[in-house]
Amino acid sequence: MALINENYLKLKAGYLFPEIGRRVKEFTDANPDKKVIRMGIGDVTQPLTPTVLKAFHEGVEEMGNAATFRGYGPEQGYDFLREVIATKAYQANGIDIKADDIIVSDGSKCDTGNIQEVFGNDNKIAICDPVYPVYADTTVMSGKTGECATNGYYSGIVYMPCTEANGFIPELPAERPDLIFLCYPNNPTGTVASKEELTKWVNYARENKCVILFDAAYEAFITEPGIPRSIYEIEGAKEVAIEFRSFSKTAGFTGTRCAFTVIPEELKAYDKDGNAHSIKKLWLRRHTTKFNGVSYPVQKAAAAVYSEAGQKEVKEVVEYYMENARIMRESLSAAGYTVFGGVNAPYIWVKTKSNMSSWDFFDKVLTEANVVGTPGSGFGPAGEGYFRFSAFADRENVIEAMERIKKLS
Ligand SMILES: *Cc1c(COP(=O)(O)O)cnc(C)c1O
Repeated sequence: MALINENYLKLKAGYLFPEIGRRVKEFTDANPDKKVIRMGIGDVTQPLTPTVLKAFHEGVEEMGNAATFRGYGPEQGYDFLREVIATKAYQANGIDIKADDIIVSDGSKCDTGNIQEVFGNDNKIAICDPVYPVYADTTVMSGKTGECATNGYYSGIVYMPCTEANGFIPELPAERPDLIFLCYPNNPTGTVASKEELTKWVNYARENKCVILFDAAYEAFITEPGIPRSIYEIEGAKEVAIEFRSFSKTAGFTGTRCAFTVIPEELKAYDKDGNAHSIKKLWLRRHTTKFNGVSYPVQKAAAAVYSEAGQKEVKEVVEYYMENARIMRESLSAAGYTVFGGVNAPYIWVKTKSNMSSWDFFDKVLTEANVVGTPGSGFGPAGEGYFRFSAFADRENVIEAMERIKKLS
């Protein structure tokens, strides 16, 4: 008899985005004449930039020519891409990361989920609340948790509430975890962690032999000086932190697919007898066994992001989204809302008025302003009473959506 992985039965049904879809459909079916503006899902809207597209095309052409055709590439990525990442994304900023520490993949979603596999199931995982749902769901799938309680918390996970009171940076947990997921700039709250705050976490991880799983998917959206773009800007982080980066939001690769994981040689975790082992070695073992590399044209396109012209172009796209964010912040503040984020991240985290619930606010904004956002409670219980707007949208839609929201009673 074939048996299932019963951990999957513990998962709550993917509730948030299907429920948003259901409510939007119900509304549009009943009101076919209304123009609904969607600012809910965190997907980019701007196309690949010319330099990136040119390299992508060149890669495709090479594949059609016997002299330049390539079959299987190195599973961990071509050296040309790993080298340019190490030099341009790290060494140019004074961070000593080598090409050897970079493992290229088809996405940070996959990487943040799959990384769990090289860590034993006796590890206790700490996760922020609210949070990008992938960290919690993959922790459940891997068998590190118990059942989900009625408050939405799985037993066995250490939840770290991120609230207005702590500036959306979690306090050090009372119960000691082994693995700690952090994401800054943050999705969904749009907030960032200062150097001091990240130093606190790195020191904690060093003292307690924890590993920090640092998701830096929104690093390119930092506009203020002094905010760390990489966990490795913090002294000692190479011994305790894995960093995940993606071309998805940075360069519009959500449909093209390319990302990378950084695992320094110094990063160790332990066997039952307390012997230290290289995590990079285990991750490479997994990656080379279960993955066969990102396609060559995609890696060519990703490398072009780091060319001088590529950098200039992707910066302009990021600035376009961040100008959307500025307009949204200012309009929502002018309309009397308390807003967070949107300065160093493409998300605006809005507090609803008069303690309205996230879903009630969703319905009000949908039916009265015909704008779709994301209820904060969908990212975790501490998100209740908040609402996320995404700056990944077209400018004219942003302006119109804000005009409509200003007119709400
Ligand atoms: C969008 C996003 C990613 C990127 O995922 P990909 O699989 O690389 O597209 C990673 N982490 C967070 C928090 C995100 O919002």
